[in-house]
Amino acid sequence: MRTIYDTKQLLIACLSVITFIQSVSACPCNDITIPKDGAKETNTAKGLAYSRTSAYKKEFDKAIKDARSTCQKHLGERKVAIVSDLDETLLDNRRFFEKHPEFHWKDFDVWVNDAKAPSLKKTADLLAWARKKGFAIFFITGRMELLRSGTIANLVNNGIAYDGLYMRTDGDKSPAEKVKAAYRKKIEDLGFKIIVNIGDQYSDLAGGFSEDCEKLPNKIYFIP
Ligand SMILES: [Mg+2]
Repeated sequence: MRTIYDTKQLLIACLSVITFIQSVSACPCNDITIPKDGAKETNTAKGLAYSRTSAYKKEFDKAIKDARSTCQKHLGERKVAIVSDLDETLLDNRRFFEKHPEFHWKDFDVWVNDAKAPSLKKTADLLAWARKKGFAIFFITGRMELLRSGTIANLVNNGIAYDGLYMRTDGDKSPAEKVKAAYRKKIEDLGFKIIVNIGDQYSDLAGGFSEDCEKLPNKIYFIP
């Protein structure tokens, strides 16, 4: 009798491990690698032109649709969250890049502090919908802390509701993947389960800590 009980327990334990392995391997976030030649694929003028094409729109819309479908599987669950990047994911900086094809931080700081970047409607709609459905919305951005007030002002100007804004420490030059994955871990350590992580760079997504990852198109620039 004792042996049967132990065998049953062992079987349950094995099935649990198999289920866990399947769920982990099914997560696209575990397969994301940052392309080494990503910078070669981007160019300000060509990227801006691409962002006006139907191919860009199709790619963008599919990512948003997939994000929403994943969220729909978790409706009613407690402490679920979406993590989103800001630049070229929610905030549209194309007007800045049209004026400044060569990127310099001092020009970008002025642009951020003007707080006039429009939002990308499809992402804004997804986040507003999800928040009404009970998802917490956390932003993780590569923008430095010194741009916090300008960034918040821009989000407020666009009527964006959210629950947390994680920014790069001033002067921190660590790789984006490392900074962003550490913040996602922090969010999960708070007790939230990140259901979707959405961004326009592979470095927004690599490193785990999300059930689903959605990559938006961006051929203007590449952040390793
Ligand atoms: Mg971005």
